[in-house]
Amino acid sequence: MKLLTHIAQHAARNPEQTAFRTEDQVLNYGLLWDRSSRLASFIHATQLGRQTPVVVYGHMGIDMPVSFLACVQAGHPYIPVDTSIPLERVRLIIEKSGAGLVINTTDSILDVDNVTVLHIPALQLEQEELIGDEYWVKPDEVFYIIYTSGSTGNPKGVQITAANLESFTDWMTRDFPLDQGKVFLNQAPFSFDLSVMDFYPALQSGGSIHALEKEVSNKPKLLFDNLSRSALQIWTSTPSFVQMCFPNPDFNQKMLPELELFLFCGEVLPLAVARELKERFPRARIFNTYGPTEATVAVTSIEVTDELLAHEKVLPVGYPKSDMRILVVDELDNPLPEGEKGELILVGPSVSKGYLCEPLLTESAFGIINGMNAYRTGDAGYIQDGLVYCQGRLDYQIKLHGYRMELEEIEFHLNQSEYIKSAIIIPHTRNEEIEYLIAAVVPADHDFDKEYKLTAAIRKDLALRLPAYMIPRKFTYYTAIPMTMNGKADRKKMKEEVFA
Ligand code: AMP
Repeated sequence: MKLLTHIAQHAARNPEQTAFRTEDQVLNYGLLWDRSSRLASFIHATQLGRQTPVVVYGHMGIDMPVSFLACVQAGHPYIPVDTSIPLERVRLIIEKSGAGLVINTTDSILDVDNVTVLHIPALQLEQEELIGDEYWVKPDEVFYIIYTSGSTGNPKGVQITAANLESFTDWMTRDFPLDQGKVFLNQAPFSFDLSVMDFYPALQSGGSIHALEKEVSNKPKLLFDNLSRSALQIWTSTPSFVQMCFPNPDFNQKMLPELELFLFCGEVLPLAVARELKERFPRARIFNTYGPTEATVAVTSIEVTDELLAHEKVLPVGYPKSDMRILVVDELDNPLPEGEKGELILVGPSVSKGYLCEPLLTESAFGIINGMNAYRTGDAGYIQDGLVYCQGRLDYQIKLHGYRMELEEIEFHLNQSEYIKSAIIIPHTRNEEIEYLIAAVVPADHDFDKEYKLTAAIRKDLALRLPAYMIPRKFTYYTAIPMTMNGKADRKKMKEEVFA
């Protein structure tokens, strides 16, 4: 595989160069390749069936990249699972994926059953004999699996093949101004595919990844202190994250003098954010990109120039990458002419082969068009003069502070709670952006004398099953949830009641 060969060659030529660093750890290319190759032979010796997935558990420590490359060198897809994911959900992912091994890169014990756990910090790898590149993941085999929120209540695993990933990294290193050896920001934890946007393009081009752990990015003082020392050149994040930096007036080109490129993906890039960045970072170029995890990070891009800012009211998400086609279809899947609004369908080599062990979900979202994989995005949009514009969702998938989630998944878990009869989630929006979530709840019989105690009990329940970013900020209580004529929860009416 070309991507792995590039990394190996770079490690041989520049072993001392930093491949990945956090606030207090540095991993150079030599060590990344050597340790991952030895760990690959250790994994190989465990004799898992070819392509059996391996869960890699941790946050942003240097053993995460080592483990990812080890898995794929041994022919296994890895499933990155961040420490912010509650244990019950981690167990579910292990069980549903049929993972044959868990690599724990943290210092703590991971309490899971029925699967071997390799505790990396305690592992001696120096004596391992290396295996050959004939075991590496092949183009049509799965390279990684990322779990995203699922509307039926459980997360679903998107399978990305080596060919999917290579199509993405080739596009990034060819069509974007990414020269060799740059310093890239990594803001997103590895369980989100935004992290792939910097991770593999950086490694393919011999760059260094500057990872921001959540302990750093959550505290403004630590964050800006870290950024000031970072010598960052390529910034990759959600628009929400960069917006979070705006309250600090010193967040500008003086703080990051070498910054030359902003790459955004994952949610709407508001015009005002792009304008403000242009003022603060006059030497940096800005690109808006769009794509779902199911089509390997991003499939469209456009440079946000002054001219574009002057002409557009809403920023387009860009032109499709050259090997991808984007269709716009109506409710009956008929292709629509240019300029008409419909659902965006992505066709081409970036599109995943489907969700792991979920044939029904796969069938409803994926298909084959002209011999190529196709994905039904659920995004509303249109194409004008070859440019793709996004216009929100056709379902209940949302982005909150850059995180993708299905409202129905949160509702599923709320409805599992013994304290709840029924519940729906209402997003609270400001300036067309979702600010936070409100749970509208019909409580079951309970013994709490105060509402806040009931809320605390529900929150505690939810925290066992959902990551913190999916837990509603506000809870409001009702005696009934209004229904529509066809017996579904009437979200519109409920919203009116919540905001009455
Ligand atoms: P994820 O799988 O987390 O990358 O989320 C994919 C979804 O995020 C897409 O289907 C869109 O709804 C939304 N999205 C991603 N990029 C953009 C963008 N540049 N503008 C608007 N929405 C976006």
